Amino acid sequence: MRIALVAHDRKKDDMVNFAIAYQALFTGHELFATGTTGGRIAEATGLPIHRFRSGPLGGDQQIGALIAENRLDLLIFLRDPLMAQPHEPDIIALLRLCDVHDVPVATNMASAEMLLRGIWRGDLAWREIAAETGIETGEQAD
Ligand code: PGA
Repeated sequence: MRIALVAHDRKKDDMVNFAIAYQALFTGHELFATGTTGGRIAEATGLPIHRFRSGPLGGDQQIGALIAENRLDLLIFLRDPLMAQPHEPDIIALLRLCDVHDVPVATNMASAEMLLRGIWRGDLAWREIAAETGIETGEQAD
């Protein structure tokens, strides 16, 4: 699975603890992240992780591009619901693309844990089948 991890500033400690807790699971997958989030996770766990730009500088949009190209299977996006973000339009666009392409997305820790347990149990194997058969979920014809 190709998994993207993003956390707003006040959620970064939670994301680091989450990555440590699920490090064994993450080891078997390809990881992507926005710049600062990815740096914190790599520093804490040593996991290989592809880092995009920082979120406010376009990192969310880069992850959105992966989704548009059907190259992402899961997004964990620990948002800060109590603080306005300068790149709010990018955040909305990213979550919208998850809905357009049926990419499982979690925006809080409780949901993130459920998704990861789903991976563990093979519940998301349909993503691999969809990729192998070229099925683009949610894709609209032009
Ligand atoms: P960051 O970006 O990981 O570079 O802080 C996350 C965000 O704010 O969208």
